[in-house]
Amino acid sequence: MSDAAAMRRTNLETDVLVLGAGIAGLCVALNASERRVLVVCPDEPVRSSSSALAQGGIAAPIGASDSVAAHILDTIEAAAHFADPATVSRVIGDAAQAVHYLIDSGVPFDRDGAQLSLHREAGHGAARVVHAAGDRTGEAIVRALWQRAQAAGHIEFLGNARAVELLVLRGHICGARLLSPRGPIAIHARDTVLATGGIGRMFRMTTNGPFATGDGLAMALDAGARTAALEFVQFHPTALYVQADPLPLLTEALRGAGARLITAGGRPVMAGRHPLGDLAPRDVVSRAVWECQQAGEIVLLDATSVFNSPQAASFPGALETARRYGFEPSRQPLPVTAAAHFHMGGIAVNDHGASSLPGLWAGGEVACTGLHGANRLASNSLLEAVVYGRAIGTALNLGSTPAVSGTPDAATEAAHDPEHDPRWTALRELMWHSMGPVRDGASLRSAIAQVSTEIEGCQLGDAVLRRRLLLARAMMQSALARSESRGAHWRRDYPQRDPQQDAPSSATA
Ligand SMILES: Cc1cc2nc3c(=O)[nH]c(=O)nc-3n(C[C@H](O)[C@H](O)[C@H](O)COP(=O)(O)OP(=O)(O)OC[C@H]3O[C@@H](n4cnc5c(N)ncnc54)[C@H](O)[C@@H]3O)c2cc1C
Repeated sequence: MSDAAAMRRTNLETDVLVLGAGIAGLCVALNASERRVLVVCPDEPVRSSSSALAQGGIAAPIGASDSVAAHILDTIEAAAHFADPATVSRVIGDAAQAVHYLIDSGVPFDRDGAQLSLHREAGHGAARVVHAAGDRTGEAIVRALWQRAQAAGHIEFLGNARAVELLVLRGHICGARLLSPRGPIAIHARDTVLATGGIGRMFRMTTNGPFATGDGLAMALDAGARTAALEFVQFHPTALYVQADPLPLLTEALRGAGARLITAGGRPVMAGRHPLGDLAPRDVVSRAVWECQQAGEIVLLDATSVFNSPQAASFPGALETARRYGFEPSRQPLPVTAAAHFHMGGIAVNDHGASSLPGLWAGGEVACTGLHGANRLASNSLLEAVVYGRAIGTALNLGSTPAVSGTPDAATEAAHDPEHDPRWTALRELMWHSMGPVRDGASLRSAIAQVSTEIEGCQLGDAVLRRRLLLARAMMQSALARSESRGAHWRRDYPQRDPQQDAPSSATA
C-alpha cells in the first residue's frame, strides 16, 4: 500500500500496528516476520527519531577482559539499586546477541583490525561501547534497519502520520487513531505496539528528537495502561546552549578527554562538589549546571585543550556541531545547559514487552522494563530497544491477541497538533522548572494545581494537549510522592535516599 493510497481511506485494517520507527519500532517490525505489519511514523526515521541522534553507542560486555557479571553490576550501581535484577541479567545476557543481530542487519560498526572497536563511558568499569561512524552510531543503526525494513515483504509503511489516540474496546486495545494532513485515519489492528520514544520535549530544554513529546505514553496512560517510575528523568549536563530545539548534545567524552565546566567568570563549576570533579556521575553534574543557571550564571564547557590536541580527531561530530553554531572550540569555551535527555519510567511491560492492557505492547524508551531503575547507565538504552524490539517481534509471531467483537469507543474529540499552542510552550516551561534536575514539594504542588486548571479548561479539539497535561501531572504526582532523592530524582527538601521507598511507583491518569 502506498502512502497516497492509504491516505485516501479513513478506516484501515492491519494485523500488527507499530507506532514509531526508531530502533525499537524497526526491530519489532523486522522480527514480527510471521505477521502483516504496518509501521506508522511522522517522518523518515533518520529525521524523526531520537535513535538517529545517539552518539556514543550500544553497550555490550564483549571485550576480552569484560564479563556479563561486571556489566550487570555497573548497571545496578548506576540505577541507584532500583533496577529489576532479573531484567538486568536477561538484557545484559542478550547484549552480545543483540550486537551480532545488528551486524547481520548491515550495521557497519567501527573496528580495530578484525575486532569491534570498544569505547569506555562514564559508569562503565570496562571498555564495552560498540560504535559506528565514530560518534554517529544511532544514525548508522537506523539507516541499516530502515533499509532492511523497506525491503521486507511483511512490512508496510505509513509516513506523515502520527497516532493521537488508542482504540479501546472493553479494555482491549485494537488499533489507533492517527492525525495526518488529510484528516483523521483509524487503523484497526489485532496487536498494537507503542515504540514512540521518550518525553524529552515535555521540557523546554531537551536533546530529544522532534517527536519525543510523550504522546505514546500519554495515550497509554489515558487508556488505563499501568505505568511505572514516571518521576525518573535523566538530564544531560552539556547540551550546547543555542537557539535550537532540540539542543545539540556535546558528548561527555569531551570531559573524559580533559574539557572542564566553568562559569563565565572562570570559576570551576564542579570544584568541591564531588571527588570525581568534572567526571562525576551525569546527575551530579547536571544538578551543578542547573544550580549555576538558577543563580543567573552562564555555564561554559572549556574544551580548548581537547581541540588543540590530537584527541580532536575523536570528536568530529562535536567539532561540526560547534562550528555550525558559529563557535570555534579550539579557541573559545562553549555555552552549555543541562537538558532533559532520557526517561527511565514508562509503560510497565513484562519480559516480552506486553503491557497490562490486552493487545497493547511497548518497546524502547516509551516502556519501563526495570532495566534502568532510577538512572540509566550510558549506552544501555539502544541495547534495551534492540533486545525488547526483538522479544516483542518473537512474541507476536507466536499468535495474535484474540479479536474482540464490536466497535471501539468513539473518539471523544477531534484532535489538533498543539506544537504551536502557547499552552504547550507554557507546559514545557513549567516542566523544566518544577520537574528539572532539582525538585521540591512546594514547586511540585503548585505545578500540579496549574496543570489541573489547564486540564479543566481543555476544549473540543484539545485531545493531544489534554493527554500531555495528564501525563505531566502524573509525572509530577510521582515526583511528589517520592519523598527522597535517588538517582536522577533529586528533592531539595528530601536530599537523602530512603530505603523504605525501594519499590517503583506506578501512576494512573
Ligand atoms: C542526543 C541523544 C544521544 C543519545 N545517545 C545514546 C547512546 O549513545 N547510546 C544509547 O544507548 N542511547 C542514547 N540515547 C538514547 C537513545 O537514543 C534512545 O533512548 C533510543 O534511541 C530510543 O529509541 P526508541 O525507538 O524507543 O525511540 P525513538 O528513536 O525516539 O523513536 C520513536 C519513533 O516514534 C515516532 N513517534 C513519536 N510519536 C509518535 C506518534 N504519536 N505516532 C507515531 N509515531 C510516533 C518518532 O517519530 C520515531 O520514529 C541518546 C539520546 C539522545 C537524544
